[in-house]
Amino acid sequence: MTDSRYNVIIIGGGVVGLGVALEVTGRFPHLRLLVIEKEDRVARHQSGHNSGVIHSGVYYKPGSMKARLCVSGAAAMVEFCREHAIAHNVCGKVIVASHSDELARLEELRQRGDANGLTGLRLIGPEELREIEPHANGVRALVVPSTGVTDYAKVCEKYAELISSRGGTVRTSTVATGIRRLANEIVVETSQGAFSAGALINCAGLFSDRISRMAGDDPGVMIVPFRGEYYDLTPERASLVRALIYPVPDPRFPFLGVHFTRRVTGKVDAGPNAVFALAREGYRHSDISVRDLAASLAFPGFWRMARQHWRNAIEEYRRSLSKPMFVRALQRLLPEIGEGDLIPGGSGVRAQAVKPDGTLVDDFQFFASGKVLHVLNVPSPAATASLVIGKTIVQMAADSLELS
Ligand SMILES: Cc1cc2nc3c(=O)[nH]c(=O)nc-3n(C[C@H](O)[C@H](O)[C@H](O)COP(=O)(O)OP(=O)(O)OC[C@H]3O[C@@H](n4cnc5c(N)ncnc54)[C@H](O)[C@@H]3O)c2cc1C
Repeated sequence: MTDSRYNVIIIGGGVVGLGVALEVTGRFPHLRLLVIEKEDRVARHQSGHNSGVIHSGVYYKPGSMKARLCVSGAAAMVEFCREHAIAHNVCGKVIVASHSDELARLEELRQRGDANGLTGLRLIGPEELREIEPHANGVRALVVPSTGVTDYAKVCEKYAELISSRGGTVRTSTVATGIRRLANEIVVETSQGAFSAGALINCAGLFSDRISRMAGDDPGVMIVPFRGEYYDLTPERASLVRALIYPVPDPRFPFLGVHFTRRVTGKVDAGPNAVFALAREGYRHSDISVRDLAASLAFPGFWRMARQHWRNAIEEYRRSLSKPMFVRALQRLLPEIGEGDLIPGGSGVRAQAVKPDGTLVDDFQFFASGKVLHVLNVPSPAATASLVIGKTIVQMAADSLELS
């Protein structure tokens, strides 16, 4: 084999692509593997711009891939962090009902969590809530002890280091620009030349639908970017939050509602909201990509989604543009918080697959086409579940791409 020929190529150096690559190098050490990442280092997009939460699996529909892979993935992530000395903390969290009209949904979450095999879930009243989170306010809360926090950028760096130490190659600053399918191999054209392989796995996150089309496949969905914006609590007020305080989520959306997260660094952030981003990598309001925007607006599913969710979208935009409104949403959970306690924080952009009928794809979605496997919808909790997503995808690839 020449230097440009591999057995497997993975496009995307985020937590999912690297999770898959780690599994390939562990399970098939004799295969030549290449990860192609367009940025100058791994985890530059979703995987390095998230809340850092090791989700427990309480939210997801029993039997769904999200539920199965999150519960086992969380345990695997905690073990991975422990083994490789990556900062993490299984601090638990509280999901707080601020109103009696949220109680039925809170109870539903408890039942989901039980059905998904979580242990230690407990519904508590306001007094016990105040023992756990002295400044939180609610009529009832669900305690989820297995939730934790870590730093997924650090996790990705460790995945990449292990992949390299096992003989795999992670090429950064290499943009995949074209894909040709030949009789016995797939050629990936990149900014650094062409590479070929017997099998290709598309883990391109916010661009996974475009890579899928590049490979000649119809993804059947469009990736719509939703920015999540954070505020940080000032260091003097970070003590208002001990661990993680979440609201009861609106079941119509895949997003969890603005919440408080104490990160492994001790910094506490508030957010993220969910606003339609005008560029797939649009981290600020001013980031606009004509190509990305035109693609979203030309997609019929976008308009159908907008028709279904316009009220909520306007609310999210208003909260994004108005700090007092953002603060009011947070005060439901933490009445003492004020505008002066928050300073602008970072942001991340979620890759959310939307169907032509406007439905937001809820579960993880992967599909194989010939010797190519596309990972099309891996929103939260995919960072948590990345090790077991890696195992699942490599098993699919072993079956349908005949990796051996
Ligand atoms: C605001 C926010 C908060 C979140 N919070 C959590 C959380 O607390 N817990 C959790 O489990 N999950 C969370 N998530 C979800 C989690 O971060 C994602 O599910 C996960 O990072 C997806 O990983 P990925 O590898 O698919 O995508 P990415 O990390 O986006 O990686 C895709 C990579 O593909 C590369 N790429 C794209 N096109 C090309 C190309 N043409 N050539 C080469 N490379 C290319 C990109 O540069 C990128 O690095 C959150 C996400 C966001 C945005």
